[in-house]
This record gives sequence, structure tokens and C-alpha cells, in this order.
Amino acid sequence: MDVFRLLHHTPASTFQRGGGEKRSKPMSYVSAAKSNRVIVPLLPLRDTVVFPHRVVPLLVGRNRSIRAIESSMERDQKIFFVLQKAAKANDPREEDLYPIGTLGTVIQSVKLQDGTVKALAEGETRGRLLRLIPNEPFSLAEVEEIEAYGQPSLETEALMRTTVKLFETYAKLTQRVNAEVVASLSEMEDPDSLVDTMAVHISLKLEDKQRLLEILSPGERLEELYRLLRVEIEIVQMEQKIRERVKRQMEKNQKEYYLNEQMRAIQKELGEKDDFSTELRELEIRIKEKKMSKEATQKVEKEFKKLKLMSPMSAEATVVRNYIDWFLSLPWSDCTRDKLDLKKAEKILDEDHYGLKDVKERILEYLAVQGLVKKIKGPILCFVGPPGVGKTSLAKSIARSMGRRFVRLSLGGVRDEAEIRGHRRTYVGALPGKIIQSIKKAGSNNPVFLLDEVDKMSTDFRGDPSAALLEVLDPEQNYTFNDHYLDVDYDLSKVFFVTTANTLYSIPPPLQDRMEVIRIAGYTEPEKIQIGRKFLVSKQTKANGLTPKNIRFSDPAIRRIIQNYTREAGVRNLEREIASICRKVAKKVLGGGKQVSVKMTAEGIPKYLGVPKYRYERGERQNQVGLANGLAWTEVGGELLTTEVTVMHGKGNLIITGKLGEVMQESAQAAMSYVRSRAERLGLEKNFYQRLDTHIHIPEGAIPKDGPSAGITMATAIVSALLKTPVRSDLAMTGEITLRGRVLPIGGLKEKILAAHRAGIKTILIPRENEKDIKEIPPKIMRAIELILVDHMDEVLKRALVPDNPEHFLSSKPNEMTTPAIEMNTGVTA
Ligand code: ADP
Repeated sequence: MDVFRLLHHTPASTFQRGGGEKRSKPMSYVSAAKSNRVIVPLLPLRDTVVFPHRVVPLLVGRNRSIRAIESSMERDQKIFFVLQKAAKANDPREEDLYPIGTLGTVIQSVKLQDGTVKALAEGETRGRLLRLIPNEPFSLAEVEEIEAYGQPSLETEALMRTTVKLFETYAKLTQRVNAEVVASLSEMEDPDSLVDTMAVHISLKLEDKQRLLEILSPGERLEELYRLLRVEIEIVQMEQKIRERVKRQMEKNQKEYYLNEQMRAIQKELGEKDDFSTELRELEIRIKEKKMSKEATQKVEKEFKKLKLMSPMSAEATVVRNYIDWFLSLPWSDCTRDKLDLKKAEKILDEDHYGLKDVKERILEYLAVQGLVKKIKGPILCFVGPPGVGKTSLAKSIARSMGRRFVRLSLGGVRDEAEIRGHRRTYVGALPGKIIQSIKKAGSNNPVFLLDEVDKMSTDFRGDPSAALLEVLDPEQNYTFNDHYLDVDYDLSKVFFVTTANTLYSIPPPLQDRMEVIRIAGYTEPEKIQIGRKFLVSKQTKANGLTPKNIRFSDPAIRRIIQNYTREAGVRNLEREIASICRKVAKKVLGGGKQVSVKMTAEGIPKYLGVPKYRYERGERQNQVGLANGLAWTEVGGELLTTEVTVMHGKGNLIITGKLGEVMQESAQAAMSYVRSRAERLGLEKNFYQRLDTHIHIPEGAIPKDGPSAGITMATAIVSALLKTPVRSDLAMTGEITLRGRVLPIGGLKEKILAAHRAGIKTILIPRENEKDIKEIPPKIMRAIELILVDHMDEVLKRALVPDNPEHFLSSKPNEMTTPAIEMNTGVTA
């Protein structure tokens, strides 16, 4: 049906909205009542916006649209293009269309085989859709033309220029806009056609295009376009950046691939590749099979990837291979099962060690707690005592009783933190630290780990090893020990750490804090004989390939070794001497057959061990003038230390020799001051010292000595020398002295008393304040010696000197001192 005819049938009022005269237009739009209103076929568009003065190709598929085009072509080619709000709507109603579209013409149309029509259309002016007139076979639209704004303002001109500039940038960036178009822009004077032209050439969203079409004020249109252009440019720049990056990455990958292929070819030529690839395959299997922490697996896999790309002969490949090997050889998840049977544990401890009742008790308690709470989280055991008392072997027994592996790491002399924590991999020849090395040696992640001699570590410019150790030993932290070489956390929480030390004072306090100290003081002679008989002899017999029939030791023989060939708190030298005898017997057995049987007696010992190394001075001493027995405490246990004093003509000098430390020197001066303050009471001339030089010497001058506990010994020796009165040789003493002669307490009492007992001393003077420590001393020793508690130096002299007339120098009571000590504290020169 002919549309136009139909229109003529439509009442005029339909077209005369707003009234006004009816005027036919020369261009054959069907004019509406107003001059700028027309009724034309409607072409709803799904995916394009037609701008005025722009030619666009259209592909039309909908039947009604095809009819609209055909009808338009048959007449004056006029048509109204308008965008649908939703592309889906097939037969859009008025509300489905945007209110503003473009009036234009269909220049050409071709029907394609599939029934669709390809058309070339040109926009002319923008128009507002006033009314949609549904009709058959296509809809019509009553449209009001939108008129141009007239002369642009200056501001609009400026906007035009900047927008054109920006558009040029855009064109340059995208290279999608024809150069002629760009050139033509600067000549345009009408802002609307400028916007229309540019809008067509920018890839904008449909809504944006539609908005540009709808804005009426040219200034606002330009601003909107400017804004959209900016956004577009940014997007394009971003796209370019991404493209560049991807391109570079691809080039790099290609290059690497190419080079690797080349390298492979070369390696193949050289015949290396096959071995290497077999090795790589094996390594890959091992990596897959090894159970490691997640972090470690990731690390190893990364390194393995690198290794695959390396030349097998390169130094770098060796480094990476070593690194991977370390990971594969560590026990990440291998652990042994604990046997926590306390009865058995006790049996094992007794099998390995004589005595040490308290120590064993503590260990068993500790094990019991471990058994109950399963996970070790608490202080670390620390055995403190002189060498050779069984600290290391106790730790070994703990491992044996728990069924765990045992590793030992000696920290003696470790100065460098890197020794504990490892070197970073960037160092040539870097290796993991000793902790990780020991764990590898243990082969399980829950060994008993002995850190020997924690007190012997030192600190210098290479870092503080104790800090690294802190991390290891901190039960709160040690589940993540980070070795510098591995650079991956290793879990040490299942490790049972035991530490040993000779003395506590040289262990850094924060370390001490984490340890549960168990002291082992040293053995008495009878204990040593028992240890020798029950443990060391059988151990060494076996170790030297002998049978118990080949060699037997009598108790006196062992005692002889202890007395004449060793001087120690522990039993290490005793064991060594027994071993030495066993070796000599082994030689005999080899020469004389298995029947050889040697019975070691006390008399036979020198034949095997040579001249006695130490004189056992029991009973051989004589009371002497100026010679007093002191007791010292050293890292290797207690020791008898004699103090010698002589006086000679001189000028009041005090000479002190024997490599004494500062504290001991001060002690000597205090002792001297005390003696001077008591001069009168001791029966000395008031100014006796002015004509005398006093020399205090402590023998074994090569060994540095320090500590305050020799004060009373020095004072005794000085008095003895001045009075020419001998000191009891079977008596020893220990105590600090004050200027007024008070005796102050000392440390290490047990060790000192054991040493005195070893040396055959009968009587020992100790400070009264040390009375509380007496309970630590074995009853056997207590029976053999006499302990006398003293408060004041006067009592010491009374007990120690052997005067012709004992009451001679003690004629007055101590508190009747006439001269204040404070005044006497002058005039002593060292
Ligand atoms: P430390 O570690 O304290 O220096 P060790 O543990 O190395 O001493 O002991 C030295 C030797 O003495 C070892 O052979 C050890 O078995 C032995 N030993 C020490 N104390 C005892 C003891 N109470 N019973 C049996 N043997 C002992």
C-alpha cells in the first residue's frame, strides 16, 4: 500500500501539532503543519548513529525497514534515521527510540541474495522525533528539524581549535583516520559539522555517539567530544603500552627459545647432552619423590627449571645442582619414632653412667614430660660442669633411651655467625651452616642435637653466633630456622636440643634464659674408681680388641692412675690412661697369643705409664712458714692453689706475682692492709712494713688466675711470713677478706672441697655464709674431712698457724681493735 496515499487520508490535525499554516515544501518531504516539520519513513537503527553530512553504509534486514527504504527510494529518498534504545526490539515503538535522530536520504540501495538490503545513506540535519505513526508496511515519523545555532562564539572557536588539536593527536596515535579528513577539519567553520565529522571517526560507544547527536548547544557538544576524545586517547595509549610489553616479552621468549635450541644443538654436537639429560631426568624424579615443605618444593622446582636451561659444564650449573642436592639430602619429613619407656630409659642411663643420681632423675623427669606433652616446647637442657664428667655421653644416652639419632656440634671457637647460619648463595663456595649440616648428618628431623661448649663461642666483627643460636634454641621460634644458604625455613621444632658448657657465666644471658641448667660437679676419688672399674676398663678393653681375660685392673691400680697420672674433676684422662695401658697389652696379645693375661696392680702401673706425672702429696707436706693452701675453682673443676709469701729488707713495697688478675691483686692489697691494721695485736712493730718488702707469689705463673676467694689465704701466708710461724700443711682455706678481716662467702664450694680431698687435705676453712652449700657435698667426703666455718680472719689464723704459743698473737679479742681500718688503707704500694 502506498504510504503517501494513506497519509493523505490521515486527518490534517494529526500533522498539525501546535497549529500553524500548512505549506508545501519544494523538497518533497511530506511537510507537517510547521515549516520545519516533516513526516517521513522511519528507519530505526540497531547499531549505528547517522550524523548529518556523513555518508554511511547500512545493512538492512528487517522487513519493515526494507520497505521503508524502498518507499523512500521510490519517492524523494528522504528518510529519518534514529537509534533504538535496545537493539533487541524488533518492531520498536516510540518509547523504544531515542528522541533525536537524523533526517537524511538514501543514496543507493541494492538487494542482496539473502533478501537483505545494502544501502548507502547520507545524513542531512538532526531532527527531533515528535511522533511515531505506526503504519503498514512501515512506520512513519513526524520529525521536527533542529536548526543550527548560528554564528559560533569566541569561546566555541577556541574550543573548536583545541578539540581539533586533540583529534589530531588521536589520529596520529591510532593511525586510523584519513589524513585528508584531519586536514579538512581545520577549515571547518561550523562547530556542529566539526563535531559530526569527528564523532564518526572516533570509535565511541553507541550511547556516547547518541549523546553527541542530542546535545544542542555547539559549545557543550564540543566539550563533550573533547572529554570523550581524552578518554579515548588514554585508552589507546594504554593499549599501546600493553601491546609493546607483550611484544617485548614475546621477542624475549623467542630469543631465549632460539638460543636454547642453538645451545642444545651445540651440546649435541659435543656429545654432552645425553648424559646431562639423563641426569636431569633422574633429578626430576628425585624432586618429585622427595617430600619437602611447600616453600622448599617451590624453590627447588624453580632452580630445576633454571638448571634445565644451563650448559651442563658451566660453573653455574654446578652451583645450582649442589643447591638442589642439599634440599634433596635434608630430612624434611623423615623422622624416627620415639620410644618413651621410662623404665628402659632409666636402665640405659644406668648402663652408661655410674652415679649421677640427681642428674639422671632430672633427665627422666624431663623425658616423662616430653612423653606427656608429645611436642618439646620448653627450656633446653644444659649440662654444666668440668670436662670429662660425662656431659656428652649423657646426651648420647638420652638419644639411645628415646630411640632417636644423635648429632653433636661443637661450638668451641665459633666466631662467625655464618658458621651457624650458612653463607648466602652469592658467595663462592657457599654452604649451609653447621646446624643444617648436622641435621643432614642426622638423617632425621627429630634427632637429639648436642650443642657442645656453648660457653666457648665468641663474638667479633663477623656477627654474633649466639644470636643465630638464639633463633635455633628459642622454642617459640625454632620451627622456622632460616639458613642463609637454603634461604628457606627449616622446621627444627622436633629436634631435642641439649647443650653443654664448662661454666655458666660466659654464656650470654638471653641464651641462658632458654636453658634448664643441670650441674655436674665432678667426681670424688672413690667415684672415679667405681667408674674406672665398672665402665672405663670394659669400654677400653673392648675398644682395643681385648677380652676381659686379657686384662684385669685391681682397684689400687686404678687409684694409682687417678692419683699419679691424672689431675682432673672428670674421668677423661683416667680413660685415656686406661686406653694407653690397653693398647700396650694389645701389642702383647698380638705377639704372645690370645692366652696372654695381664693383671694390673698399683706397682705395675709405672711400667706401662712411665714416671708418675703428678706427685700425690698426701702426707708428704710439711708445715712451712709463708706457705698457705688456698682453693681455686676453675673451668676444669676445683684445684689446690698454694700461696707463697716472703718478706725481705726493703721500703714497704708489696710485690705480687703469678699472673694474678685485677680482683686477686686487690685481694692481696686488702690482705696486706688487714695485716698492717692488726700489727700490734700480732706482736709486730707498728711500722714494720716500712723496712720490709713483701712478695706474694702464687706458683704456676704461666696460668692466669683471678677471683676474690684467695683473700684469707694470702693474709694467712703474709702473717705466717712476718711472724715466722708455719702454716698447717694439711689444712686448706677459701674465702674473701674485707679490710676489717671479715670472711666473705665464695662460689664453687663443692668443686673446691673435692679438689682438697683429692689432695689429701684434712681440714678446710670455709666462710660461714657458705654453710648452705655443704649439703651438696657427698657424705663420704664429709666423713673424711673436717669443715670449719669461719667468720673472721682471726679465727682463720688461730686455726691455720702452728705457733709455738698459739695464744701469743691472739692475746686481744678481735673487736678490741684499736686502730680504725680506714686509716690503714694507705701506704701499701704494689
Ligand atoms: P664431657 O662431655 O663432660 O667433657 P664426656 O661425656 O666426653 O665428658 O665423658 C668422657 C668420658 O668419661 C666418656 O667416655 C664417658 O663415658 C665417661 N664418663 C664420664 N662420666 C661417667 C660416668 N658417670 N659413668 C661412666 N662413664 C663416665
